[in-house]
Amino acid sequence: MGRLAPSPTGALHLGNARTFLLAWLSVRSRGGTLLLRIEDIDGPRVKPAAAAQLLDDLGWLGLDWDGEPVTQSARLGLYAEAAERLLARGLAYPCVCTRREVEEASSAPHEGGGGPEADGPVYPGTCRGRFRDLADARAATGREPALRFRVDVDAVPFEDGFAGPQAGRIVGDFVIRKRDSGPAYQLAVVVDDAAQAVNEVLRADDLLPSTPRQLLLYRALGLDEPTFVHVPLVVGGDGLRLAKRHGDTSVRRFREQGVGPARLVGHLAFLCGLRPRGAVCMPGDLLADFALGALPPGPVRGDEPISG
Ligand code: GLU
Repeated sequence: MGRLAPSPTGALHLGNARTFLLAWLSVRSRGGTLLLRIEDIDGPRVKPAAAAQLLDDLGWLGLDWDGEPVTQSARLGLYAEAAERLLARGLAYPCVCTRREVEEASSAPHEGGGGPEADGPVYPGTCRGRFRDLADARAATGREPALRFRVDVDAVPFEDGFAGPQAGRIVGDFVIRKRDSGPAYQLAVVVDDAAQAVNEVLRADDLLPSTPRQLLLYRALGLDEPTFVHVPLVVGGDGLRLAKRHGDTSVRRFREQGVGPARLVGHLAFLCGLRPRGAVCMPGDLLADFALGALPPGPVRGDEPISG
């Protein structure tokens, strides 16, 4: 059981589309089930119209999924319950620190890549053991606390299905519930993947640093861990994750220019090392000889013109 977990924060571009094609192929080539989950809890970055466009673009590319899409904003109770459980067991604690205070108190540099909501600097533990409970934190500071998960290990080593053995270094207690009481990405993704019985998480490797945190949450909540498969990013000429500044590589723009789905999927297959440049094919055509091992081991450029 796999999943596509787009955040409706913007248009589907070549980078996400390639990752979704790989997630689709990995599951479908083994006859597995693929779910679709809209990760729409990333606050101000979420654009309401983006979810519908995403589903439309995925359908146009020939990437299907099983069952009805699930939307995280409709599942807030599940995340709240998990956060309460971790708090009740002393595995999480109230934290009233603002981002700015954390930055000022932290001497360690930002590790980077903490998750879609960018976790900021390493948390120095200011509020660890400081309050008896949420009410105490509110009364003592007049602030609404977030909840942080206690990290008492330096690393959670794991075997990645593409990237191989990982040291899984993990630094600092991390937020699982924000001050506005919304769930943090790290908690929501774990609760959902477990509740939906997802046993393969294939995603881009900018989330590799999040995985040790998620593994700690699986263990703390007594949930079955999936296999993680992190694939290299599609990047621009500067080596950074493909983004708007590299030009418009949105699926929508290719559609508007009259590029057909088979040409675009053929190009994605080329970016996956599965077909030569200029190939024309649909996802189903790639199933028979799909091998994750064909994937180039490092980042690939996605900002060059497509040909064919
Ligand atoms: N929704 C996340 C994103 O688009 C992906 C989360 C995941 O695959 O774990 O960045």
